[in-house]
Amino acid sequence: MADAPVELPGRLAILPFRNKVLLPGAIVRIRCTNPSSVKLVEQELWQREDKGLIGVLPVRDSEAASVGSILSPGVGGDSGEGGSKSPGGSGGESTKQDAKNGKEPIHWHNRGVAARALHLSRGVEKPSGRVTYTVVLEGLCRFSVQELNARGSYHVARVSRLDMTKTELEQAEQDPDLIALSRQFKATAMELISVLEQKQKTVGRTKVLLETVPIYRLADIFVASFEISFEEQLSMLDSVDLKVRLSKATELVDRHLQVFPCDGQSILVAEKITQKVEGQLSKSQKEFLLRQQMRAIKEELGDNDDDEDDVAALERKMQNAGMPANIWKHAQRELRRLRKMQPQQPGYSSSRAYLELLADLPWQKVSEEMELDLRAAKESLDHDHYGLTKVKQRIIEYLAVRKLKPDARGPVLCFVGPPGVGKTSLASSIAKALNRKFIRISLGGVKDEADIRGHRRTYIGSMPGRLIDGLKRVSVSNPVMLLDEIDKTGSDVRGDPASALLEVLDPEQNRTFNDHYLNVPFDLSKVVFVATANRMQPIPPALLDRMEVIELPGYTPEEKLKIAMKHLIPRVLEQHGLSTAYLQIPEAVVKLIIERYTREAGVRNLERNLAALARAAAVKVAELGSTLRLGKEIQPITTTLLDSRLADGGEVEMEVIPMGQDISNAYVNPSPMIVDEAMLEKVLGPPRFDDREAADRVASPGVSVGLVWTSFGGEVQFVEATAMVGKGDLHLTGQLGDVIKESAQLALTWVRARAADLKLSPTSDINLLESRDIHIHFPAGAVPKDGPSAGVTLVTSLVSLFSDRKVRADTAMTGEMTLRGLVLPVGGVKDKVLAAHRYGIKRVILPERNLKDLSEIPAPILAGIEILLVKRIEEVLDHAFESGFPLRPRSSL
Ligand code: ADP
Repeated sequence: MADAPVELPGRLAILPFRNKVLLPGAIVRIRCTNPSSVKLVEQELWQREDKGLIGVLPVRDSEAASVGSILSPGVGGDSGEGGSKSPGGSGGESTKQDAKNGKEPIHWHNRGVAARALHLSRGVEKPSGRVTYTVVLEGLCRFSVQELNARGSYHVARVSRLDMTKTELEQAEQDPDLIALSRQFKATAMELISVLEQKQKTVGRTKVLLETVPIYRLADIFVASFEISFEEQLSMLDSVDLKVRLSKATELVDRHLQVFPCDGQSILVAEKITQKVEGQLSKSQKEFLLRQQMRAIKEELGDNDDDEDDVAALERKMQNAGMPANIWKHAQRELRRLRKMQPQQPGYSSSRAYLELLADLPWQKVSEEMELDLRAAKESLDHDHYGLTKVKQRIIEYLAVRKLKPDARGPVLCFVGPPGVGKTSLASSIAKALNRKFIRISLGGVKDEADIRGHRRTYIGSMPGRLIDGLKRVSVSNPVMLLDEIDKTGSDVRGDPASALLEVLDPEQNRTFNDHYLNVPFDLSKVVFVATANRMQPIPPALLDRMEVIELPGYTPEEKLKIAMKHLIPRVLEQHGLSTAYLQIPEAVVKLIIERYTREAGVRNLERNLAALARAAAVKVAELGSTLRLGKEIQPITTTLLDSRLADGGEVEMEVIPMGQDISNAYVNPSPMIVDEAMLEKVLGPPRFDDREAADRVASPGVSVGLVWTSFGGEVQFVEATAMVGKGDLHLTGQLGDVIKESAQLALTWVRARAADLKLSPTSDINLLESRDIHIHFPAGAVPKDGPSAGVTLVTSLVSLFSDRKVRADTAMTGEMTLRGLVLPVGGVKDKVLAAHRYGIKRVILPERNLKDLSEIPAPILAGIEILLVKRIEEVLDHAFESGFPLRPRSSL
């Protein structure tokens, strides 16, 4: 019950009330709109499973003294109907304006009230998508503030309890003075209630409540029901001593008695007060009693009754779900079956779960699509993403078509690129631009068709597929749905997920998508699908045919630097409750992180490393403490009691003060932490990459440097070859696919055939493999590799081995080769060159026919790398070795 002593935690998040006081026992409804209080409610109440307490602390600005002035009963009567509190409200208004103009100092009061949320609701304020919360708070007990710290955008205080504990109270109650005061207060309160009830002619419920509530709470509850000035409220809050509190409360109640001359004029007002007193008194108690009674009744009747109710509620929910007629019929049949079953029966719970799903699915519910503002969409894309000009342009085109023809069956966009290049965040930007909800369905590793299409209900533990489940979760039928990693689905004995996806993405078929679990068609045609993939190659051609591929090849170090400075750092700071006032990461340091700690096409690891720095800084900030002790000027305020005014409504609307710059600036840490190289090493460890790696690895003959294309973008791939005594066999290791194994065979054949020309053997009739085996290994042995583009690298490595000459460490290569020694073009040239650049490689050998791909590579990168275009493998060798590789004039075979 509300009277049980509250466990006050040592720290409370602080919600400031501007010129308002929440007293213990009072219940208020507040709307939080400004970012800091929204953040507080979100983090402390909304996202928490166990709803904790928060602290409400009055703050006053210098104007406050003039607010809450004397009021005659007449005015109170005026304000009665409208439900708005006039002077309090106008006071709130004026202070709000002050805050806007706002430079005047705001003073925190050093005593507050711990409160719990009785009710929370969340709303979205259009069009910016800003979130607001409405919270019903109940004041519980007083605390005093020991220390006030800024934590992110709101404050947290170390608090100590002010109200007496139960034993202290019991002792105090023996005090004859207190007994006398209590008696006096109760008598006055009773008198007031009698007057009010006379006017209202209600039965004496309030009086009963008066008897059941402990006296120390009663005083607060009464006072909270009157609308009195801020000063008076503060003084009531400061009345920690029970005797002082009681005499103050008596005085206030008494004054209200004086205000009620029996002139019949203030009946309305009387009603308000009774309502309010009764409302606040009884709210928690009444609820408690009712629940007790309900439980007792249920126990008498047995539990079944609970389920009856449940099924009825389920039916209501189903009725409201807006199912199409034929599905509703089907659902009703199922419901009739459920009704006939006992809850203990085996099929009961599965039947129930099925009906719950039917009721939860968004058959009709859609998020309203606003008139699409292309300019705003472009701005938002630009705001969230650096660069990517072509990609953004394509997205805008896509949106423009949607705007002109909203039901057009446009293509499904598919972003293809390595991890961390912004595929997911672009897709969520599309959702934002269309004002639709966003849901990500991860398809990575999905091998079972049932993952997409659900299991039939005959299976034990059957479930709907991921799509239907996703729609249930977003609860609208027109979200933007991201099919993530569509290239990672595979097929095996359990069916082919790709074929199910074909149906999903086909506008002709997805109107009646059939989930095996659901067993009735669901219309997916309103869903906007966007897909992502790391590589195009594994996507089945039929599926690829339904999509429009947009490639995101990865970023150059310069682009990464810009992305970090403009997007990642601000976001990481915000996520860690920091700002540039606490932590600064200079450009030069970010460059070091890019060069020494990450070697990736995207920016995901970069973001992770920045987050590590922010975490380290957050610990320091928390340790050092940007602690603010309450200033001396904030004294408890006591003023003589003013005339009061009368309240309206059971709950008060309050404006929570906007905590603008002015407050947070007061706590700015005087010297921000600036990350330097030393801190970098301390937090991130020694550098993970350097330019010497290639040199170290090609230090012996038989090793060459290749460029390959993986799902992580371009990569540098070393190839190692060695020879040993044997029977002329070729051993291959490094998780190689069939194509790459064949390339190795091919390379060896070519080298053996040309051994004499390459001066690897004196004459052409000598077998190069005479009594020896060759072993070729592709390091990073755990990563599967395949593809034809290692051909030239393999030849180079074998030639290096047989000629006992080292390959140049600054040269990397890629290209497919034919048996005759021609070099054929390969894919992913931009990614590969970027990878070479990341490794600090200075020369890249490419097939001549890849010349056209060079235009995609940013000029600053090209400027730093010498591109060597080749037609034949001999040219590759010539470039790969220091001082070339001269061949003997070609002998005829
Ligand atoms: P993906 O889906 O391609 O793996 P994400 O969309 O998850 O990558 O991106 C990883 C992180 O990098 C996100 O925080 C994203 O906002 C950020 N990011 C990637 N590219 C950019 C860019 N061009 N501008 C700003 N931030 C970016």
